[in-house]
Amino acid sequence: MDLTSGQHTDPEIPGRRGRTVYSSLRQSLTALLFLLVLAVIGCLVANRIYEGYLAGKERGSAAILLGTKGYALSAGITRRVALLEGLYAFTEANTSESDFGRRFDVYAAGLHAGAKDVRLFAITREGVIRYLYPVKGNERAMELDLFLAPLTREDALRTLNSRGTTLSNPYELRQGGLGVVARKAVFAKGEFWGFATLVIDIPSVLAEAGLDRQDRLDMTVRDRAGKVFYGDAGIFAKSPVMLHIGLPEGYWELAAVPKGGWEAPVRRDLLIFRLGTFFTASCLAFIVFQIYDRQRRLRNAVQERTAALKEIENYNRTLFELSPIGLALCSMDGVLVDVNTAYADILGRTVAETLGLSYWEITPEKYEDQERMRLERLETVGFYGPYEKEYCRRDGRLVPVRLHGRIIERNKARFIWSSVEDITDRKHAEAEIKREHAFSEALIDSLPGVVYLYDQEMNFLRWNKNFERVTGYAPEEILRLQPLDFFVEKDKALLQSRIQEVFVKGASNVEAGFVAKDGSSAPYFFTGLRTEIDGKTCLIGIGIDISDRKRLEEELTALNLNLETRVAERTQELNEKSAQLAAANEKLKEVDRLKSMFIASMSHELRTPLNSVIGYSSIILNEWLGPLQPTQKENLAIVLRAGKHLLSLINDVIDVSKIEAGQIEVHNEEFDLFDLVQEAAQQLEPEIRGKGLAFPVTNIHLQLLADRRRLLQAVLNLLSNAMKYTVEGSIQLAVNFDGTWAEISVADSGIGISEQDAKLVFQPFRRLDSSLRGTVSGTGLGLYLTNKLVREVLGGTITFVSAVGQGSTFTIRIPVTVGADAEAKERVS
Ligand code: ADP
Repeated sequence: MDLTSGQHTDPEIPGRRGRTVYSSLRQSLTALLFLLVLAVIGCLVANRIYEGYLAGKERGSAAILLGTKGYALSAGITRRVALLEGLYAFTEANTSESDFGRRFDVYAAGLHAGAKDVRLFAITREGVIRYLYPVKGNERAMELDLFLAPLTREDALRTLNSRGTTLSNPYELRQGGLGVVARKAVFAKGEFWGFATLVIDIPSVLAEAGLDRQDRLDMTVRDRAGKVFYGDAGIFAKSPVMLHIGLPEGYWELAAVPKGGWEAPVRRDLLIFRLGTFFTASCLAFIVFQIYDRQRRLRNAVQERTAALKEIENYNRTLFELSPIGLALCSMDGVLVDVNTAYADILGRTVAETLGLSYWEITPEKYEDQERMRLERLETVGFYGPYEKEYCRRDGRLVPVRLHGRIIERNKARFIWSSVEDITDRKHAEAEIKREHAFSEALIDSLPGVVYLYDQEMNFLRWNKNFERVTGYAPEEILRLQPLDFFVEKDKALLQSRIQEVFVKGASNVEAGFVAKDGSSAPYFFTGLRTEIDGKTCLIGIGIDISDRKRLEEELTALNLNLETRVAERTQELNEKSAQLAAANEKLKEVDRLKSMFIASMSHELRTPLNSVIGYSSIILNEWLGPLQPTQKENLAIVLRAGKHLLSLINDVIDVSKIEAGQIEVHNEEFDLFDLVQEAAQQLEPEIRGKGLAFPVTNIHLQLLADRRRLLQAVLNLLSNAMKYTVEGSIQLAVNFDGTWAEISVADSGIGISEQDAKLVFQPFRRLDSSLRGTVSGTGLGLYLTNKLVREVLGGTITFVSAVGQGSTFTIRIPVTVGADAEAKERVS
């Protein structure tokens, strides 16, 4: 099926043309050779025929010539033999005459006068020649006995027996010369009387008949016995023209061939003919060759063209099959006669299912009227579309398509050729674009300010509804206006330069009055952005009404002015206040100084008597001054305990107030932590062990530069707490060094601290509720002070972990600034 009339260049296969040319040449040469052979055969046949014809003609003319000569010869003999009849009649009449001899002479002389070429007239008596005429030259014949002479005997007998005229074969006469003897027996009274004889001179007769004039033909004559007596006997072997010459008795045969043979006369004609036929045959062969070759080339061309067409057809068929666009051929009454896969796909069918369907089966009803109108139009204009409609798929779904087509003619019948495209995706995309468009339109229109787009020629391309509303111009008016038309004269130069800036740099903004159609103006803040739309450089701009901002700004300016006076007033007030504060501060500082002075003096005034109380009550209690009553001992112990408690409370209070007043002195010194830990352990060991608690110590040598006394105070504090709040189990004191920090931890198996109390332990004067609270003395200042010391004096940290009923571990970490090379040397437990 040829679907297109488009040009298709036959794809040239390399080598094919070469092979074609070669085979074509070979075909041509073969044909030429064949024709030449044919021509040669034709020539030969024609020559043979012509040769035959010429020979026939030659024989004809030879036969005619021979005929005339033969006739003359026959006539010559017959005429002379007729003389014998006269002689016979004369003799018969004169047999009894005595002067027969004289009479014969007269009579014979008369005959001889009319026939000189008769050699001899003779009469025999019985068989012997008695009378002859002329005697001269024939003397030797006289008295010849015919019955006796061997040459004549037979003839004589034959003549006698036949009683008619006999004619001898020619023979050499006794008297010389070639002659034929005619003889007739004469009877007198029933008795043989003698013979009447005459001898005809053959050379004369032959000459008379013209046989001697052999200009064209070689002739020869033979007698009835086959003896050639004239001419060349060999002629008989040369397929001569023969003539049978009837004689008064018997016959002769005359034969003739052209001089030089049969070929001689026709040789020239034949040569001309041969040349002619050869030339003609050559021409004919050439013409036939030309015709054949032309035919062949035409045939080849047709074959090649057919192959090319086939190829084009295949090519087109492939295109048709593989085309992503649906293609269909429909008869004029609407039956699908050929469709491709793409077309069938659109209909949700296979090609086989689609073929034979009617166009109306795949056209939804709603399109029928419209389709009929299109068909009518198609009939007149020859083509339809492109237009869009829907097809009915096999599953009943409608599929949007775009189609166009034309009427084509194939094998004298008309068809509708359609190309159909499934535009479902496009429709979706269009809908999507529409939605997007509507969305962006809505977006632009809902923007608070004016939005506009214009090109470099200052022609407005788009704007939002707000733009029309604010300016009061109708769309067609805006189309005629330019951006600068919306500003007053004095702003135009600025606007122009900013617009320029947008086109050059890409963005700009400006504040200016935006003038509406009615002349009213409002302050606007415009921002412009350069953008490319459809290959055109444009400016997209947004203008925001800043009337409110302006007003606010003005109000703000007014407010600012107001504020300044108020600030001045306030400053005044503040200055007064700060003077008051400074005075108060001074007072406070004085109070603080007084407090410090109080504490300093208290530290001495209180501790000195307390130390005396503690010292003396210890001495008394140790019974160094004499034995004591148990009750005295008990009471004194209470005094000692209370004195110690008071001392520690005073110490703590002094330390706290010193720290808080920033008056605590830091006395850094270099020492071995090992010794410090050892000292603390030794100090509390008796008491701890006295409570029945295990007390393992893990110690290391580590040089430290720190306030030794304060660190010892902190460690003692932790140990004393552990001891206070542990009833049974152990207290572990351990030292560790991680390269930067020295870590001293005190772990006990005491009552522990609950999670909610954890944050309270470092607060001053806080003692937690516990079963031991009543029995254990404390101030609630220990951990508060320890924390302050570790952090503010030693520059370290204090942390703890604890679980109620299981125990607590408090850890002090302080930085190691000296003896960083120191390492743990010994562990003591
Ligand atoms: P106190 O002089 O009462 O010991 P601290 O400031 O030293 O005051 O401790 C505050 C409170 O924290 C204590 O009253 C006690 O309830 C709790 N506490 C301190 N150390 C321990 C510990 N090792 N085990 C359990 N409770 C402790």
